[in-house]
Parts: sequence; C-alpha cells; structure tokens
Amino acid sequence: MRSNFSPLEQPAARNHISASWTKTKIKQNEEQENQNLACPEDNRRREQRISLSPVSVSSLGCPKIVERSSWSTKKTNCKSELKTPVPWVIVHHTDTLTCDTKESCTARVRSIQDHHTRSRNYCDIGYNFIIGNDGTIFEGRGWRKLGAHAAGSNSQSIGISFIGNFLSCPTIVTRRQWGGKNPTCRSNQRTPVPNVIIHHTEGAFCNSRTTCSAQVRNIQNYHMKTRGWCDIGYNFLIGEDGLVYEGRGWTTLGAHATSYNPISTGISFIGSFTNRAPNSAALNAARSLIACGVSKNLIKGSYALKGHRNVMSTSCPGNSLYRVIQGWPHFKA
Ligand SMILES: [Zn+2]
Repeated sequence: MRSNFSPLEQPAARNHISASWTKTKIKQNEEQENQNLACPEDNRRREQRISLSPVSVSSLGCPKIVERSSWSTKKTNCKSELKTPVPWVIVHHTDTLTCDTKESCTARVRSIQDHHTRSRNYCDIGYNFIIGNDGTIFEGRGWRKLGAHAAGSNSQSIGISFIGNFLSCPTIVTRRQWGGKNPTCRSNQRTPVPNVIIHHTEGAFCNSRTTCSAQVRNIQNYHMKTRGWCDIGYNFLIGEDGLVYEGRGWTTLGAHATSYNPISTGISFIGSFTNRAPNSAALNAARSLIACGVSKNLIKGSYALKGHRNVMSTSCPGNSLYRVIQGWPHFKA
C-alpha cells in the first residue's frame, strides 16, 4: 500500500478512535447486521493485538480520502450516528476481485454498495472505509455514521475493508516433491479460465504425504503409459492428507474433460467417492485452491463449478462427492 499521509494535516483519526488504540483489538469478524457475513468466504475469526504508540499515531497524520459524495451516485438514508471515539478497528476484505486503478476501484466500490443496498437492504455500503490495492481510500459511512460490518460490534468500531480476496493459497506439493516425471509435451492454458471441473481418480484413497505422493505417481504412470498422454491429465489433485498435489498446474492445458480442457482447471480428489465424500481436510484444500486461483486471476471471478458428469457422460466425481460440490458457491450443472 502507498503511504500518502500529509504531514500538514492533523491526525484527526485520534478524535474518532479511542486512546486505548495503543492496545487496539483488530478483528477480522464475520458477523454482520442481518446475520450475513461481511467476509463471506472466511468464517475464521482472527484477533490480533497490535501495539501502536501514541507517538507513531501522531506522526501519521491523515491520508487523502475520496469522499462519499464524489464516488457515490446514491443518496444515503443512514440515520444512526456512531459514538466516537470507538475502541476498535475491525479489518475486513470485500471477498471480490481486486482493483489497482482509481477507476477500477471506484467501480468496485459502487458494485459493493449496490450489493449491500439491494441484496442486503442496508441503508448504504456497510463499511466505514474501503481501500483499493492502488492505495485509494474511499469514504463509506465515514467516521460519524454507524457501520454495518460486524453485528454486535458496529457501535464500537470503525470497519475498514480491503478490496479483494486475501485468502491465503494452500500448500501445493510440487511435481518435484511428489516425484513426478517430466511431461513429454505441453500446451499453454489460457487464463483466467471460466470453469472449474471436479473429478475423483476412482482409485485408492490416501491420507499421508507418502501414500498420496505414491498414488499421484501411479496415476501419472497410468495416464502416460497406458493412455499415452503427455503427462498426468489433471491440473491438480487433492489428497485426504489435506494437501494439494500439482499436476499440470495453472498454466498448462489439461487432459481431463475433452472439450472443456481449454476452458477449465481440472481438480481431482484422490480416491473413489461414490459411497462417501472426501474428508473435510480434502474438501477445504480444494476450496482454498479455487479461491487462490481466483485471487491470482487464474480462474475468473465469475467461474462456473462443475462435476465431470456435467460435461461428459460419466459417473465422475462419484455420487457422494457430487452431492457435496452441488452446495458449493458457483456450482452450475
Ligand atoms: Zn473425471
């Protein structure tokens, strides 16, 4: 983030955030008015105490803030005042695509405002301030109006939201790490892809890095020797050890769903999931991988999630796994 504090301006923030800011509680909090999630993909609550001395606060001054009136085309009818100084600052992410110019960030803030006012029936965008990846700070409800970003804590906090999805990417076991052979040929994949296709390998289960690595090597042998392909067909594989195994990766064309190969990332759960679903470690790893792909712009933000059976005549990814992914965001048969 850019730091553009003007040394001439007074640190007005001190008037709005309480003196106990020296031990401010920063919460990434999922609660919200109407019981919706402010950070919808991330239910984990993280609390962290930071120590910021009064000296460092007073030397910061105030950054330039894009006033609400200069980006919003809507009139707000929010009535509730926020009693200041507040004891907390609550940090969010918008869980949307990121933005890196003032224009693209303005468009993003407007669409979040639309979502909050139309779909959630809020009086305005929920956050007090919104920050783009270019360093632009947008005034949402500002310092004086009660926010709608952390139910139960709105009256005690200023809610600041960073535009983007900042879920961390899962650990990926590289080809080298699982003992993969080099591919015999490769083609580039055009990214971001509009689809994610879920498979199961329909073979043995595995729940340790040793057994999953061995299983991935078996599958690669089968795809290369028996089927005569250049490489293991899938872009990624997921073990019940909760790890992601690199197949062809993000930027190499896969061989897993014929006509969908050039327009999808193929993710395969290691095992046969007709009569039982993969464990939660594996399911979480897959969801985290998809979120990671979106955050890196390798998967489109508007992607469709499909089972292999939705694009070809096959029972893949097994009835039990198929039932699970039908409940995931972006699923589209
Ligand atoms: Zn399949």
